[in-house]
Amino acid sequence: MMKEIDLTIPPEHINDSCYIKKLVLEKTKKEPGHIKILKRSIDARHKPVYRLKVAVYAGQEPEKEKFPAFKNVSVGKNVFIAGAGPAGLFAALRLLQMGIKPVIFERGKDIDSRKKDIKALDSSKKLLNPDSNYCFGEGGAGTFSDGKLYTRAVKRGKPHQVLSLLVQHGATPDILIDSRPHIGSDALPGVIKSIRKTIITHGGQINFNSRITSVTVKEDKMVSITLNEEELLPCTALIFATGHSSAGTYRMLQEQGVELETKPFAVGVRVEHSQQLINSIQYGSSPRPEGLPPASYVLKSSFGGRGVYSFCMCPGGMIIPASTDKGELVLNGMSPSGRDLPFANSAIVASVSEKDFGTGVFDGLKFREKIEREAFNVTGSLIAPAQRLTDFVSGEISKTLPSCSYVPGVTSFPIAKLFPHYVTEALIKSFEDFGKKMKGFLSSEAAVLAPETRTSSPVRIPRSRTTLMHPGAEGLFPCGEGAGFSGGILSSALDGMKCAQAAQNFI
Ligand SMILES: Cc1cc2nc3c(=O)[nH]c(=O)nc-3n(C[C@H](O)[C@H](O)[C@H](O)COP(=O)(O)OP(=O)(O)OC[C@H]3O[C@@H](n4cnc5c(N)ncnc54)[C@H](O)[C@@H]3O)c2cc1C
Repeated sequence: MMKEIDLTIPPEHINDSCYIKKLVLEKTKKEPGHIKILKRSIDARHKPVYRLKVAVYAGQEPEKEKFPAFKNVSVGKNVFIAGAGPAGLFAALRLLQMGIKPVIFERGKDIDSRKKDIKALDSSKKLLNPDSNYCFGEGGAGTFSDGKLYTRAVKRGKPHQVLSLLVQHGATPDILIDSRPHIGSDALPGVIKSIRKTIITHGGQINFNSRITSVTVKEDKMVSITLNEEELLPCTALIFATGHSSAGTYRMLQEQGVELETKPFAVGVRVEHSQQLINSIQYGSSPRPEGLPPASYVLKSSFGGRGVYSFCMCPGGMIIPASTDKGELVLNGMSPSGRDLPFANSAIVASVSEKDFGTGVFDGLKFREKIEREAFNVTGSLIAPAQRLTDFVSGEISKTLPSCSYVPGVTSFPIAKLFPHYVTEALIKSFEDFGKKMKGFLSSEAAVLAPETRTSSPVRIPRSRTTLMHPGAEGLFPCGEGAGFSGGILSSALDGMKCAQAAQNFI
């Protein structure tokens, strides 16, 4: 017999199984057999506590997590996949489950080679490889990401399926129970390598250094792809999951006659505080109470009908250069599994739409590129324009800058100059609002770095709701964040699995 009960646990007892057992006994009035934690969340509305949902078993063992089986697909039908990010890799895993051979083409390198390019990028402030960087290469933008794994897009599928596959490939089982699961940029590469091993040992293929430079559609049907401008391959089913950083790929698609659409997105800055300050604001004490993780926050506001919100908040993390082309500067954030670095950073972005940048297919993309290029041109390198938060809000140039985590370095610059006035105005008003919501947030010791421009895609590759194929290209399955159908690791992975399912119905 199994019974589910809810428990409230003081943080200092969260890892104390005797304490939890005692609480179960008090609640059920029976000596528990096995106890399994099903869900774990932090309630910090008052004095922070953990809320647990536990299953209490009498006379039976808890069920173990059931991992899916993969078939050997060395012979038989195949489906091509463009991009080895979360969408592409999870499409491949789903195809393996269904007995179909995934053949992945990824413009970047395998993780170990990619790590070397990232090291060179961080230290040189300039040496950017347009095929191998924080966004491109094995695992896509998900590899050196923060690895936060939540989504509100549950309509896209069952998040548990993705979390379970991640655990099957070496991620901590905590992600199956935490309300805000997190893997960390140090642990993600191992998980991605393990996924590669599954794909290859079951007969699938991953081709690195293989950029799709042309997609040929004839009579509204996928016909072929070209790799690296030289190798032509016949192709009738292609899951197209190239992410939203590959501007050249969007342009290539349009040149090949594949219809695209513009879409709203968001631009803004990264704000960074000391983690201690965020802990004391959120938990009311610093150092943080025993048993609680480094604190995070979620903030939202609006100004003149424009939404402004925090995005990809990284407690105990660092800001990184996420540029993918020479001559552009883009920032993002990540954190290791322990979230034990001294800083807390988050994107604070304002939504922008066709009303701001125009209705042309690439007007949003051009708007993004202009900001990124101007930010790069401030120093002609990946050194980031920065200001003290209070100076950004009051419109003053910072004479000195607080220390921050961004390895290539920062330079004092009036960040307002990088954005249209309506974006700056919305950001400033929202920072004032956030300062009221979180006392101490609007601090002169906080740094603002710019720009954060890649929270979501500025372009959509349309697809049919039923077949998931492009309306003008049978066999082409626009997929993941770059196609405009997901945002983040979990929803991109779910979309990959959904496209794999649709491809199975097609081939
Ligand atoms: C630093 C950082 C931190 C992040 N942190 C988080 C987080 O904590 N949680 C979260 O949910 N999300 C996070 N994200 C966002 C998340 O990584 C993306 O939403 C997700 O990776 C999108 O998945 P995708 O597969 O659609 O695209 P991508 O991950 O962008 O993968 C696309 C792949 O396609 C390849 N490609 C591009 N063009 C071509 C071509 N023409 N031919 C062949 N291959 C091509 C690219 O090299 C890339 O590997 C973070 C992103 C970054 C950069």
